[in-house]
Amino acid sequence: MRLDKLLSNMGYGSRKEVKLLLKSKAVEVNGAVAKDVSMHVDTEKDAIVVYGEEVIYTEFIYLMMNKPPGVISATEDKKDETVIDLLDPVAQHFKPFPVGRLDKDTEGLLILTNDGHLSHQLLSPKKHVPKLYFAIIDGRVTEEDVKKFKEGVTLDDGYFTKPGDLTILSSGEVSEIELTIMEGKFHQVKRMFESVGKKVTYLKRMRMGSLQLDETLELGDYRPLTEAELEALQ
Ligand code: URA
Repeated sequence: MRLDKLLSNMGYGSRKEVKLLLKSKAVEVNGAVAKDVSMHVDTEKDAIVVYGEEVIYTEFIYLMMNKPPGVISATEDKKDETVIDLLDPVAQHFKPFPVGRLDKDTEGLLILTNDGHLSHQLLSPKKHVPKLYFAIIDGRVTEEDVKKFKEGVTLDDGYFTKPGDLTILSSGEVSEIELTIMEGKFHQVKRMFESVGKKVTYLKRMRMGSLQLDETLELGDYRPLTEAELEALQ
């Protein structure tokens, strides 16, 4: 790969900026100051150093975000801020996209990556990846609802859902629940509750497959997945 392409991909700026970086003698390849932006480097073998720090080349980026409310799960939007707008320029350079969607008002676990294969693995209906949500419900959630969700419920468009695993954490005029579903239809959790006459007033995704939301992440913050987290997801 060309040196300027590699450095640009790794977040060191545009090709023009990388050219300036080389001019300032900030870049070394195998111990020698690099002068030619068009030089070809082998990402496996060559040691590339910028300002004394070795550049470890990665093609893919894998991030976990605690999505805040009010932000759209998309790469761009004409009107609203997107989850991509919350990323720093280096992360944005990898052109990540959200793995699936959370509604604008939904919070919690969102994976961002540029790895289409992983995204497909997690979203394909055939893979049955479980997603765990915490929700606050306006109304009393009952054992009858638990039973109905276990059997599947009919949504407003006639779709009959796969079984959902509903746990009541507290039940009263306002209830707190956890729900695990294996699919990801549009507004699915909200519509499942609508089907039993109840309204979701707060929704947060806690888990996707093996990946648990890191609760130390503030709303809007993100971090790279650890190697162990990534391995468990694949
Ligand atoms: N179900 C919903 O209703 N909304 C979400 O954002 C995710 C699941």
